[in-house]
Amino acid sequence: MRTPLIAGNWKMHKGVAETTGYLEELLAEDVPTTVDVLCCPPFTALPAATMIATGSAVHIGAQNVHWESTGAFTGEIAAPMLVEIGITWVIVGHSERRTLFGETDATALARAKAAQAASLEVIYCIGESLEERDAGATFAVLERQTEALGELDPTHLVLAYEPVWAIGTGRTATAAQAQEAHAFLRLRLAALFGGEAAAAIRILYGGSLKPDNANELLRLADVDGGLIGGASLDVRSFSAIIRAAAVCAAGDTL
Ligand code: PEP
Repeated sequence: MRTPLIAGNWKMHKGVAETTGYLEELLAEDVPTTVDVLCCPPFTALPAATMIATGSAVHIGAQNVHWESTGAFTGEIAAPMLVEIGITWVIVGHSERRTLFGETDATALARAKAAQAASLEVIYCIGESLEERDAGATFAVLERQTEALGELDPTHLVLAYEPVWAIGTGRTATAAQAQEAHAFLRLRLAALFGGEAAAAIRILYGGSLKPDNANELLRLADVDGGLIGGASLDVRSFSAIIRAAAVCAAGDTL
């Protein structure tokens, strides 16, 4: 009942020319209609990306957004500016924003609220560090990170569980670790929004997801797609993950 979402977070990779070539190649393939597909290029490539993808099966998103709609915030981009160029999705609270750029639960929430107020769909990222997992604090961290999400509109919210120790490291959560965390998050969402709304919210797994492990992770009961960094940069591996998601959604195994 939850349509899988396969989202590529390109981080600071690909300018306009590379973005154009990538999307042309992706669109030349038959993107399955049973999977929602999203690409999130850097800001400067967003106008070119929306021009190519508008009207296709591929959605285009931004990697960050500011919480104010206008003002003296050098270097920031506001939600209405993204909407103006045809952006429909935004990633918020990515662990790289948290660890490298001082993002907190409070600023991530403020960004998500502003995005939803401008009618953007939000992918809200959470996840524990290795130290936190080793200290047995995973669920406490996830509880803290989701504490204020009740202030958001659940119908325009996707949660991304991204254990920080698995991002860009080649180390992936085991199927058991991922399902355990996702099931915990589903219960948290039920406490915040009620069972029916929680059952409809997609929870993505992120952390070294690639064609090799996509089938194992994407078939898990509470894993509704993936947020993919490294493996999304190559159009063939991204397409392979999309196809794996379509197969899992159909209830088959590869
Ligand atoms: C990410 O950046 O959200 C991510 C999951 O990266 P990677 O797939 O490279 O681990």
